[in-house]
Amino acid sequence: MDLGLSGKVAVITGGSIGIGFAVAEALAREGVHCALCARNEERVKKAAKTLEERYSVRAIGVRADVTRPEDIDAFVEEIRKTFGGADILINNAGTGSAEKIMDAPDERWQYYWGLHVMAAVRMSRKIIPFMIERGGGVIINTASICARQPLDYEPIYNVTKAALVMFSKCLANEVIKYNIRVNCVNPGLIRTPDWDKTAQIVSREKGMTPEEYLDRIAKDNAPIGRFATPEELAHFYVFLCSPLASYCVGSTYYVDGGWLKCTI
Ligand code: NDP
Repeated sequence: MDLGLSGKVAVITGGSIGIGFAVAEALAREGVHCALCARNEERVKKAAKTLEERYSVRAIGVRADVTRPEDIDAFVEEIRKTFGGADILINNAGTGSAEKIMDAPDERWQYYWGLHVMAAVRMSRKIIPFMIERGGGVIINTASICARQPLDYEPIYNVTKAALVMFSKCLANEVIKYNIRVNCVNPGLIRTPDWDKTAQIVSREKGMTPEEYLDRIAKDNAPIGRFATPEELAHFYVFLCSPLASYCVGSTYYVDGGWLKCTI
């Protein structure tokens, strides 16, 4: 099936590993050029090189911390210089938290607000003018199932991801007149380095191996009984990016193996 994506340019924040890299790779396979950013420069440059070598697309990897407006400005400038603009924006950079509301200081709330919400606001404000020039575009925000079904140990994560879902809806209403489709994806359990890191720490406390711990999490939570691979999730992003998803606007899609315990 021709997904109509060849030759487009995609910007992916947090594109060096995990879900972001899997989405970049799935898009590159369709002939999409990619601009990735992350804080670890060596890793993000290596990720871009991998895409160029495997898929014969143009890819850049830029060191940028999306919580810093000046880094976003520099990243967008690199995109402008290399590609002259962009057609697709995946606001994906993010990470889990662990705290109690009664203990967490304001700075912690502000950090996650910056990472999960303001980064998407600022990236969108910078990239949308390129999309308008090109006659349209697609924005996908990676929120989380936790935006609707909270995990007890990470209230700040739950709250800021819920805000990202609402940001997606509001932005979708504002920019559809420019033929820019904004949607949000709420993944469930996706086996990425972030989960591997958590498993290393928590499994020791529980007297399990990391694999046993992850298997237990999956069996206890997701009716499907397992984690998804990042690649399984990435297929869905590719569809949403493609013109085949032309009537998908302003929605939030769960990709969670049945974990959400209610109908939407
Ligand atoms: P990973 O930790 O595996 O990857 C995170 C990526 O984001 C890395 O490329 C990391 O690179 C980058 N990143 C983190 N912080 C920043 C920052 N401040 N500025 C720029 N880049 C940053 O995470 P996942 O792939 O698991 O998660 C990706 C997104 O999906 C996140 O938003 C997460 O909340 C969401 N999600 C994940 C789920 C899962 O089960 N894995 C479930 C639901 C949602 P570097 O460290 O070099 O900056």
